[in-house]
Amino acid sequence: MSIESVLHEHRVFAPDKAFASQAAVASMQEYQRLCQAAAEDYEGFWANLARELLIWHKPFTKTLNQDNAPFFKWFEDGELNVSANCLDKHLATIPNKTAIIFEADNGDIKNVTYKDLYHQVCQFANGLKSLQLVKGDRVIIYLPMGIEAIVAMQACARLGLIHSVVFGGFSAKSLNERIIDAGAVAVITSDGQYRGGKTLPLKQAVDEGIAMGGCDSVRHMVVFKKTGQAVAWDDQCIWWHDLIAGKDDTCEPVMVDAEHPLFLLYTSGSTGKPKGVQHSSAGYLLHAMNTMRWTFDIKPEDIYWCTADVGWITGHSYVTYGPLAMGATQVVFEGIPTFPNAGRFWEMIQRHQVSVFYTAPTAIRSLIKAGETDFTTHPNHFDLGSLRLLGTVGEPINPEAWMWYYEQVGGNRCPIVDTFWQTETGGHVITPLPGATPLVPGSCTLPFPGIDIDVVDEAGNDLAWGNGGLLVIKKPWPSMIRTIYNDPERYKSSYFPAELGGQLYLAGDGAIRDTETGNFTIMGRIDDVLNVSGHRLGTMEIESALVANHLVAESAVVGKPHPIKGESVVAYVVLKGKRPEGEEAKKIVAELRDWVGKEIGPIAKPDEIRFGDNLPKTRSGKIMRRLLRSLAKGEEITSDISTLDNPAILDQLKQPVN
Ligand code: ATP
Ligand code: MG
Repeated sequence: MSIESVLHEHRVFAPDKAFASQAAVASMQEYQRLCQAAAEDYEGFWANLARELLIWHKPFTKTLNQDNAPFFKWFEDGELNVSANCLDKHLATIPNKTAIIFEADNGDIKNVTYKDLYHQVCQFANGLKSLQLVKGDRVIIYLPMGIEAIVAMQACARLGLIHSVVFGGFSAKSLNERIIDAGAVAVITSDGQYRGGKTLPLKQAVDEGIAMGGCDSVRHMVVFKKTGQAVAWDDQCIWWHDLIAGKDDTCEPVMVDAEHPLFLLYTSGSTGKPKGVQHSSAGYLLHAMNTMRWTFDIKPEDIYWCTADVGWITGHSYVTYGPLAMGATQVVFEGIPTFPNAGRFWEMIQRHQVSVFYTAPTAIRSLIKAGETDFTTHPNHFDLGSLRLLGTVGEPINPEAWMWYYEQVGGNRCPIVDTFWQTETGGHVITPLPGATPLVPGSCTLPFPGIDIDVVDEAGNDLAWGNGGLLVIKKPWPSMIRTIYNDPERYKSSYFPAELGGQLYLAGDGAIRDTETGNFTIMGRIDDVLNVSGHRLGTMEIESALVANHLVAESAVVGKPHPIKGESVVAYVVLKGKRPEGEEAKKIVAELRDWVGKEIGPIAKPDEIRFGDNLPKTRSGKIMRRLLRSLAKGEEITSDISTLDNPAILDQLKQPVN
């Protein structure tokens, strides 16, 4: 049975002619030519790109090896070094170009050129080498967002060490689990970090994590002095500045096989126990670069800013690796979007003349709410004329939030690339190409050239366009996940389930394709699909209908078991204004129920609406619907909420309006 679609979007924004004329992919014909080339000679398509974009120490002769499917190998007999591809190659051409414009939480600014960055990476790599770390060793990186985090990742890549970055907001317990699973030999951290004007400890969490036991693999802890706060110390610890003191600032890159793991990244855990997603070197970097080129249309003169922390995949592909490999100038921001006020992003775009800006729907929705209450933080208050391209990632963007982003931030001038992808896909898999693709609010539009992605039913059969079903990728692609570290069986059963025939990569999201254009709309995760009176509904459309109401800033919808209907619809709503109570709350509930009834039909009307000042989110800003499901049923929350950003909000959301 397929997932029903109830919300219809008719607005279309054709690519701007001036934008298209300078774009890397300049028309739909060109886009189709690329897709056609991949369809005719799939391996040749990727092999050509890999020869064009990567610098090989030893060229590959084999493109794709499927002998041990679904454990695929790309370019397997080639050798290269990822860090050399990001840094060394620029030394001859753009040594003095700014690689990073770093803005600290407190507003301090520091610029780093490609040459500076190269030397910093080399020197730190020499430091790591002096600890006897060798190719293949796993290294946990638990650092604040900033230059050092990028240096640490690049230095690992330079030596063939496999990094696993843990976001600086994660708990000691998350660190403990990840250290054990990865068998990490070293941890790179800092004494503390600055966030939103506060000084927070960091090393302390590592100490606590290690004290929880099972971390005997750890031999070294390198500590960057960031805040100067007091830290515990033992013989395993060494200060970053002591480690690099007197070390040479050049360091021969260690060549690795194309398939050598570049990193492990544990997924955020919106859906349960974290998985150590393992990525390759060559295939991964190739796609990071090519998406920088075709999706972000990156140009030498661009000032590019991706707001993601390097603790997420977005910060790996679109901060640490893609932009550097392409020789771009990028802004790196230590702080949070709401400090010192909710105008920070817009102010920074103005200050640094950002031209390409990439952020998450959750940030956009919260800044809409803030800008409505304090006009001095509204984008209109700033000069955003430098922008030429906008992007989003992480969750479906509701059409109304998309329109706000387009009009208020982009000045009706900048294309928006709504990029659908996952930790596991390494880079964009569905996205508009800004010079080619007509944009539709709320739709991530079309497959990235070469990515064979589609919608199927629960038996793996193709669905005709217009039917909602499971999003799958039909052919292996270079930047795909290689395995789940330590758990190849889970890799197979999670991503290549036997129910679908074992050949299709299952993304875990529901999607539908437009009957005319083939545009994809993501309907929400398949674990979250509601079943109301025999109708299967995705969460995204009901949420988008609610957000389209002028009162609503954000919403999350879940199902609750219902004796007759199967499931009833429970909606959690954050208003743009204050959280309503009493009679006012009841009035708004009635208004919103009617609204949804009119927008998408009576079947989707929420049976219950609850109000909060915010929604429970992961540290990466994604709504945690599994918690909301438990709350709807009136269950106590006993599951792991260590990745939850704002636990206090759960108390508000326990209360039905009555
Ligand atoms: P976990 O797998 O541990 O639950 P996660 O899926 O949130 O965590 P990510 O890999 O960062 O971790 O996120 C990928 C998911 O984010 C996608 O599967 C999809 O649900 C959602 N997503 C990302 N980009 C988009 C987008 N442009 N439109 C709709 N959904 C998106
Ligand atoms: Mg996921």
